[in-house]
Amino acid sequence: MEVGLRGESREEGVESMASQGPRPQTLDPRPETLAIGVMGGTFDPIHIGHLIIAEEARYRFQLDRVIFVPAGIPPHKPDEPITDREHRYQMTVLATQDNPAFETSRIEVERPGPSYTVDTLMEFKRIYGEETRLFFITGADAILEILTWHQPERLRFMCKFIAATRPGYNLGEVKRKLPKAYLEHIFFLEVPGVHISSTELRSRAAAGMPIKYLVPAAVEDYIIQNHLYRAEK
Ligand code: ATP
Ligand code: MG
Repeated sequence: MEVGLRGESREEGVESMASQGPRPQTLDPRPETLAIGVMGGTFDPIHIGHLIIAEEARYRFQLDRVIFVPAGIPPHKPDEPITDREHRYQMTVLATQDNPAFETSRIEVERPGPSYTVDTLMEFKRIYGEETRLFFITGADAILEILTWHQPERLRFMCKFIAATRPGYNLGEVKRKLPKAYLEHIFFLEVPGVHISSTELRSRAAAGMPIKYLVPAAVEDYIIQNHLYRAEK
């Protein structure tokens, strides 16, 4: 059995993850190299589900930082109306500001055309150095779609994936559906489940229902002040 970079096992089943101790032992042969988590998403709006998986990944894999990357044009949502990228970026900045290990990147917000993860990871390698280890953090739904992403074969050699549990999605399905060659690049991560999505938050806001506690207070204030997700829009 191959031991993962941070003491996680690549072959461990989803079922056994809950029994792992609180902090993995560092077995990294190169602990001096920078380990960066990359948390991609549309963040329309960013919510506590995103923050929880990013923080849990940071802790479990001892990441030096997690960079949130709001997509400029999410390639997987071509027909869906999405909120202006600057609003989504601002909300992400507000949501991440109280965590010293979190930051928000403008890399995809500023890049024209569809926001492909391969381009973003290539850029991060250029900025932080080729030896920097990148961990792309996703929820269970997103990892299932990974083969439909742009240049998946190239992508899998540019980073490791951290696939977090998400209520309503079966992470075990990932093991059945994805080829072994891809699974070798994925670490599974069990996180406290939060059964919310940005879609649901947009509907709640439009219906005048509370979003308090589901998004950070600063994000809620931003949504109110900028009249986002209002039904009359
Ligand atoms: P939408 O409903 O608009 O698709 P979303 O809540 O799925 O929004 P995204 O911006 O699409 O949010 O997701 C960004 C990443 O966060 C994806 O990898 C997704 O799987 C993950 N994610 C989102 N919400 C959760 C959640 N509640 N639990 C775990 N992972 C989540
Ligand atoms: Mg989504």
